[in-house]
Amino acid sequence: MKKRKITYLVIAAASFLSIILATNLLLRFSWAEPNSIVQVALLAGDVRSDKDKLVQAVYEQILKEEGFPYRVVSPAELTGYAPGELRGRYQAIVVPENINAAMTRETADIISFYVRDEGGCALFSLNPATSNPDGAQRPDPLLVDLLGVKYNMPLPDGRISTYSGYMYFTDQAKSQDWGITPGKLDQDNAFSTYSYGKLKFDHTVAKNINAQISAFDKTGGVEIPVITDKYYESGGSAVYANVPLASGKLRSDDLLPRAVLRTFMIDYARTPRLVNSPDGGGGLVINLHICSGAYFKALTVMLMQGLFQSDLPLSIHITAGPDTYKLGDDMGFGAENTYRGGPILEVLQNYGEIGSHGGWAHNLFAYNLQYLPRDKVFQLLDWNYQALEAVTGRKVLEYSAPGGNHPFWINSKLEEMGINSYYYAGDSGSSPSHPRIYESFSGQKLWAFPITPYRQYASLEEMERGHVSEEEVRQWVEDLIDFSAREKVIRMVYTHPSDTRFCLEAIRALEEKALSEQSAGRIKVAPMSQFADYLNRYSKTKCEIKKADNDYSIELENPDGLKDMTVAVYVGEESNNVVSGGDVKTTEEDGWLYLTVTSNPQKKLLEVNQI
Ligand SMILES: [Zn+2]
Repeated sequence: MKKRKITYLVIAAASFLSIILATNLLLRFSWAEPNSIVQVALLAGDVRSDKDKLVQAVYEQILKEEGFPYRVVSPAELTGYAPGELRGRYQAIVVPENINAAMTRETADIISFYVRDEGGCALFSLNPATSNPDGAQRPDPLLVDLLGVKYNMPLPDGRISTYSGYMYFTDQAKSQDWGITPGKLDQDNAFSTYSYGKLKFDHTVAKNINAQISAFDKTGGVEIPVITDKYYESGGSAVYANVPLASGKLRSDDLLPRAVLRTFMIDYARTPRLVNSPDGGGGLVINLHICSGAYFKALTVMLMQGLFQSDLPLSIHITAGPDTYKLGDDMGFGAENTYRGGPILEVLQNYGEIGSHGGWAHNLFAYNLQYLPRDKVFQLLDWNYQALEAVTGRKVLEYSAPGGNHPFWINSKLEEMGINSYYYAGDSGSSPSHPRIYESFSGQKLWAFPITPYRQYASLEEMERGHVSEEEVRQWVEDLIDFSAREKVIRMVYTHPSDTRFCLEAIRALEEKALSEQSAGRIKVAPMSQFADYLNRYSKTKCEIKKADNDYSIELENPDGLKDMTVAVYVGEESNNVVSGGDVKTTEEDGWLYLTVTSNPQKKLLEVNQI
């Protein structure tokens, strides 16, 4: 009898357990299983010439560096999907310039359906669907209705071609919404650049029909839309950049294409991404160039005023030799001289990373680089970094070119020396990247950190000489740091040691703001080599994201470890979610959930479920 009782009890317990198990399973399955891979379609219509290949390469480079999952898709593949199927496959569609000028009606139709009816987002650059597949110009481009802009119209002389104009944002706030770094617009809100002022762009003649205009040109007295968007009731939107985006990157102006792609992907298409900054926060590099022995007094004043602080590690780059203009002039920093630069260098190394500023004699190197035999150039570079290493006992990891004179052929030497990052005068106002100048590419190994300018000025002394007011500079540094934090991007500012009131006040303003935002956890101030180390590890991180509605499953993998890698997924403003996977810090901001790995595993599976 007793035995039977026990058997009943066992059976009852077992059934109870199975019920719990089943309920559990049911509960799990009531969450939609994230099973569709998140990716963006990069439409490669007609890629034939080397120029076409470069256009595609630029888009791919930026999408990769910004951590967006994408796939290159042919028009045939796109039109192969049944109507309604495309939205489930692709988070967004990106339609680069020139390689999609020729487009069939079928391709234009399926993209239009995707945006109008399926709620998808698509980005178009310059001249989509303006010709037949055989290359003949169409009288009307096929996407005019979808974009809400009549584009590729004839010039006054009847020819159909682009013209050269400017780019004005409707206001400063709008430019920042589009990811344009504070300081990049001039007093007329025109996109401008370091030392040149207003920058010229190629546009097609265009006329707004019913799109929203964020940026325009007014050359010739008529308003030509340059950046527009048109929303649809389905939730879709068509974003149009009436400018060849890839050309920006190819002429050393990375910011515009990067900012437009990022804003489209994040704010319109809400594409999940692997965030390209440590902990998914903002980053700031403060780069100080000590070019010669002319800065000892300024450095002493800055040290006495407490402008070097261990909480704000700088990138301090030094030209180390005893001379500046010519050999033997004795106007250099003299890093190895115990009566000149030596003792200062010993102190400075406590406040950041010591990097190499060119080759031994600042101006001699800057102005003669192109005329000197390469082995002589390499020898001067060697002397400079060997002197710095001899005094500090530390490896030199950072470089900046005197006078910004940085031909790409120097990079192989820098790599050999163990450099991982350098100051860059091109691509101003943008994120660390691998620069291109037309067909030449700087390579994948070194990270270039572009200068962030204020209008046509870069360093604080230039701003002082240009009569920028103290108040304006303070406002700019505050806006810049807020922008880095909000956009989660890394920016670099550079200057020289100075003891003028203007510069001391500006440095103080920069440091005060940086310290307060750093202690609030919104940005991180670090030397460029530290960010470069992170970015190298970031580039090796594989990230696959699957989703169903706002549920996600995220697979991460990196042989060098995943610490500080951050994935951003859109969950909506009022979401209640559970995150599983362990060792992950989460923060929510504007409907985005940021998941940062806190330990250092090589693989990780994270799941986000709405409850
Ligand atoms: Zn210099």
